Amino acid sequence: MDWNTTSHLSSDEFRRLQETRLHEFFSHELPYSPFFREEFAKHNLKFSDVRTVDDLQKLPFTSKADIAPTPNNPGKSRALILQPNEKLLKQFASKAKLLNIFARKLFGQDVQKKLEWEYKPVHLHFTTGRTALPTAVGYSTKDLDTLRETARRLFETMGIPDDAVVVNAFPYAPHLAFWLTFYATSSLQLTTLQTGGGKIMGTQKIIDAVEALKANVVTAIPGYFYHCLREAVAQKKDWSHLKFVVFGGERVGDGLRAKVKDLLKEVGAKDVQVLACYALTEGKTAWVQCNEQSGYHTYPDMEVFEVVDEQGKRVPAGQPGELVYTSLNWRGTVMVRYRTGDMVTGVRTDRCPHCGRTVPRIDRDIRRKSDIKEFNLTKVKGELVDLNAFYPLLSGTTEVEEWQLQIAKVNNDPYEVDELVLYVAPKAGITFMQVEHALNRKIMAETGITARIVEKPLQEILKMIGMESELKEKRVVDVRPKV
Ligand SMILES: [Zn+2]
Repeated sequence: MDWNTTSHLSSDEFRRLQETRLHEFFSHELPYSPFFREEFAKHNLKFSDVRTVDDLQKLPFTSKADIAPTPNNPGKSRALILQPNEKLLKQFASKAKLLNIFARKLFGQDVQKKLEWEYKPVHLHFTTGRTALPTAVGYSTKDLDTLRETARRLFETMGIPDDAVVVNAFPYAPHLAFWLTFYATSSLQLTTLQTGGGKIMGTQKIIDAVEALKANVVTAIPGYFYHCLREAVAQKKDWSHLKFVVFGGERVGDGLRAKVKDLLKEVGAKDVQVLACYALTEGKTAWVQCNEQSGYHTYPDMEVFEVVDEQGKRVPAGQPGELVYTSLNWRGTVMVRYRTGDMVTGVRTDRCPHCGRTVPRIDRDIRRKSDIKEFNLTKVKGELVDLNAFYPLLSGTTEVEEWQLQIAKVNNDPYEVDELVLYVAPKAGITFMQVEHALNRKIMAETGITARIVEKPLQEILKMIGMESELKEKRVVDVRPKV
């Protein structure tokens, strides 16, 4: 079934499709995962008992702690990879698969090769956590076909035309963003420059390429795109052919979007859709907006998303909570009821008012629960501070060019109280006093705390946040000395 058909099914059709996929996956594939065999045995559960989306509620959650490697167990995430062997195949494979294997043997074909195509991890991505060690997520050759299919869906959902010229400015790395763009553009046969990002090709060459190739689409990390755009404006580039800016890797608030659109006008790009993706390394792909106002369009034939409250109880459609993910058709690394740590305002199941698709859509404003937990800020006026609030607040403040927030100790004394130090570079033509005034009020109003605001030259802040050298910009840094 093509994406256009799949994405317009009725809710009943989605339910039936998911139930078929759920039953197939749980009965015939999941048992090949050593981790889930142990989990199911521990909880006295049978793989064949999972037939409906509601049945998922009988299963325990999987969390980062279950899968992240530890110094004592660096290969921990390997247990989540499907690893069939002869005994397991005999016990769990579907009749169709056993017949296929039998027929191949009969005609002297290489059964092992076929199984390796389906199951052997040949491509790896890594999570970029700040606390846990990076977790490996494996793709089999079959999975790369699935990745290509989801990549195509991303571009089709955004409505990117089939003659578009693309500049991929995502960093070349074992991460989703670069590879999804690569697979989408190559399978849709779009002329594309896979730049590898600032670290590989260099910012100047990327800025030049957008002009020279008359690019219609740029895919990039938001902060890095803003950096390139600022340079392009200074150099009076002509980016007037640009129609789509596709962001991945970070949150995109309305403030940043407005700032980007303002600057885009200065390089002649007047009618641009600035769209964001929600990517989940453990979910092995990403989901995208069809419109700046829309949510992220999911693939109900490939995964199940649930939303749960703090007690882990599922909430009704459209209600807020934590996003929980279950794989339906991946091989390699698979997840069941994985608690993403991403807080959503809801998942909508009605028809999308912008594109008419009927797939479930995750509301566009997602906050990371883990960011809050990663820093202990209880000593800042005795209150737990939501550092997530700083991203939209600062990216959306027009007086601020760049910024970094540091969690420090007063006088760098480990026994002192915590303090927040905010380094800012004011926008050209704006004085530091104006920035300080604008920020002091905003920060107090939106976070309930104060930060010491310090002026820094733009170049110095760019270096501090690692704009050209880091995969992820270092926006919030903990510099407290260890006791
Ligand atoms: Zn839509």
